[in-house]
This record gives sequence, C-alpha cells and structure tokens, in this order.
Amino acid sequence: MQTASRHMKEIYLDNNATTPVLPAVWEAMRPFLSQTYGNPASAHWAGRRARQALEDAREQTASLLGAYPDEVVFTSGATEANNLAIFGLAGATPGELITSPIEHPSVAEPVQQLGDSGWTVKRLPVCRVGIVQVDVFSSLLTPETRLVCVMLVNNETGALQPIAALARLLDGRATFQCDAAQAAGKIRVQFHELGVTTLSLSAHKFHGPKGVGVLLVRRGTRLPARSWGGHQQAGLRPGTEPVALAIGLAAALNLAQRSQETHYAYVSRLRDLFLSRLSTEAGPVVVNGPAQESVPHTLNVSFPGCRADALLMNLDLAGVACSTGSACSSGSLLPSPVLQAMGVPAEVLGSAMRFSFSPLLSEEEILEAAQRVAATARRLRATREE
Ligand code: PMP
Repeated sequence: MQTASRHMKEIYLDNNATTPVLPAVWEAMRPFLSQTYGNPASAHWAGRRARQALEDAREQTASLLGAYPDEVVFTSGATEANNLAIFGLAGATPGELITSPIEHPSVAEPVQQLGDSGWTVKRLPVCRVGIVQVDVFSSLLTPETRLVCVMLVNNETGALQPIAALARLLDGRATFQCDAAQAAGKIRVQFHELGVTTLSLSAHKFHGPKGVGVLLVRRGTRLPARSWGGHQQAGLRPGTEPVALAIGLAAALNLAQRSQETHYAYVSRLRDLFLSRLSTEAGPVVVNGPAQESVPHTLNVSFPGCRADALLMNLDLAGVACSTGSACSSGSLLPSPVLQAMGVPAEVLGSAMRFSFSPLLSEEEILEAAQRVAATARRLRATREE
C-alpha cells in the first residue's frame, strides 16, 4: 500500500473518528495500569485503592456532566452505551419510537432491529442543513410513543440538535436516549438540563483513551441489564471496571471542559480559515451543514466535479487524513444517509468530504492542508479522474 511521501508532514483532519490521548491524560492513567492495579471488587487493600480511584473518576465525570455519580455507567464506548440504552429502554413489548434519519449506525442499527421486531419507527425529518424539525415532533407523538432517540451533535456535519426543546415537548411521556458522542468535550453537556433519560459518550472523541465511554442513566429509570455474570455497576454493566480507562476519561473530560471556550473559539478560527482558503483556491465548494447551529470541529464540504472516494485516496497520498462519512461507514462507498436525508443534490452528495479539527492543530497545518486539498481538487477536476 502506498503511503504519503516520507518527507511530507502528515496532517490529521479526522478528529471525529478519533483523537490522540493527551500526555496529561496518559500520565493520569499510568499508575493505574501498573502500581495501583487491584480489582475494584476485591476487599483487600489493593482492591480498595482501585475502588477509591474508580469512584473518584465516577464522581468527577458526573460533576462535569451535571449528573449524579450513581447515574454514571462506564461502558466500552458510545456504541455499547447506545445499545444498552436503546434495548434496555425499549423493553420486551413493541411500541412506537421516534428517531432521526441522521443517527450514527450505533443508534440507527439497534433502532432498525426494534423495527424488525415489531416496533413502529417514526422519523423526525431534518431541514436542508441537517437539523431535526422541532415543529414536526409534536405531530409524531402519540399515546403509544415509548422511546425517542435523537443525537446531540451530528458526526458528519457538526449540526447541533435541539435536544432540550424536544425533551420539553416530550414532557416525560416517553423515555429519551441521546447520543452525545460528538458533543462531549466540545460543547457544554449538562445531563439534567437536557432533560433526557439516558445519554452516551466516548472518551476517545475528546483526547481520552479508546475503549471507554459512559452511559448516563437518570435516577429512577428502570434499565434492564443486557449481560450477566457480575454485580458491578449495579449489575447493569457487569464485568471488572476498566479503572485506568475511566480515570483517563474523567481526566480528558476535565481538561476539555476547562479550556472549552478557548478551544471552541480557536477551532472556529481554524475552520473559518480552512473554509475561506478552500473557497478561494478550490471553488466552487458547498458546505453541508448549518452556518451557526453547529460545532466548529466538523466541516462537511463538497467539491462538485470531484468524486469523494478519489479525493479521499489522493488526499491520503498527499498526507491529509480526512473522511467521507462516519468512521464506522467510511469503508462503504454508499452515499451518506445523513446528507441524503438533508436532500442534497447528487453532485454534492458524491463529492462530500468531512474534515474534523482539534485544538491541537496549528494554523500553519490548516493552511498547508487547505493548500493540498485545493491542489488535489483542482487536479481531479482537470483530469476528471473517475
Ligand atoms: N455516536 C457517534 C455520533 C459517533 O460519532 C461515534 C463514533 N464514530 C459513536 C457513536 C461510536 O463511538 P465508539 O466507536 O467509540 O463506540
């Protein structure tokens, strides 16, 4: 397989897929992989120390997310958290659920399974820029509505969804699962203020380690377990808790939230700089997503006249890592269901690229990346490489 030239600086613009662990996060985790290695379920000193560290991480996570410690369930990531929430809240008897057409596969596929097993699945439409239409929500609600599944920030466009407004309209008549994997660490996420029943996130999206996430479960919610064989985490998620990973998650979330406003402003500047360079040097370009109600870490942009798969491959060779959709579907050449739901024209759909930023990027890297993207798009248009 060809890789970028050895002398070319690699530039990583796929931070929605994953982010590198920050050195301070790694340092926070390190002692709990070697020195303080006890099993938090053990009654002896080694276990007690691990238990204390785990519960500290749980408390810190809860306080950062506006939740109670007993509402925090550590999972392996957002995928497991979404599955745990959706199947758990659904229960055994089918009913009606409302979801959006822009959910991540880790929500869309469990929902599809519920549909296959007799649930009525209603889809809340999105507008042209990919935001769910709040005014349609009430018309979809019926006495049979038992579950709502809508994400907080879309992974392909960065579009911020009006979750608190939906929860207010729902007014406790059904349970509400919210996938916040692309929101946590980037914008303020306060569980109780959002008014949802359960909320999921994944640490590696905000410079924490891979393999750990959280499901927040509102106090008093009946959520049956999906696996058995241990009493950990109130039996809801049995198995030895990943102490070091949970500490990494809490440390990464803490760092992200402490610098959130500065990072948000800086990443907005990076996005604007990148986009303005692309507009002048690789025009015409089309932005897929909202100008305002979005998280600046994501920029979805189409290059009419180019094919997204050819762009992706050529950018990889030019040392620029980006994506044509969510990491979970980027192996597929099918057009993005998210952009399709937004009703974008075929030419825009087939040439859409997702660039996702992190505060670790420099302006210099952004300008260099824009220049490489522009040169690649111009070349592909000129040669009509198909
Ligand atoms: N939801 C969203 C919106 C995501 O972007 C992702 C990661 N692509 C996930 C869920 C799943 O996260 P993980 O792969 O860490 O389980």
